[in-house]
Amino acid sequence: MAIVVNTENCTGCGICLKACPESNVIKKTADKKVAISAMFCKMCLLCASVCPKNAIAPED
Ligand code: SF4
Ligand code: SF4
Repeated sequence: MAIVVNTENCTGCGICLKACPESNVIKKTADKKVAISAMFCKMCLLCASVCPKNAIAPED
């Protein structure tokens, strides 16, 4: 399982970047939206819980 960002819903507000205790959410320079790496993710879902657009969700 991994955490996935729905880039259609993401506005690039950056709230999820500050919420991640592992600094695992990064802002992409190309489209200013965010991406989540599986590398340091602890699957705590804090990023998903703070997103006002419900753009982050776990996916198989
Ligand atoms: S909180 Fe949601 S809308 Fe804002 S940057 Fe993160 S994923 Fe995108
Ligand atoms: S699930 Fe937790 S550790 Fe993983 S990216 Fe989101 S806030 Fe960070």
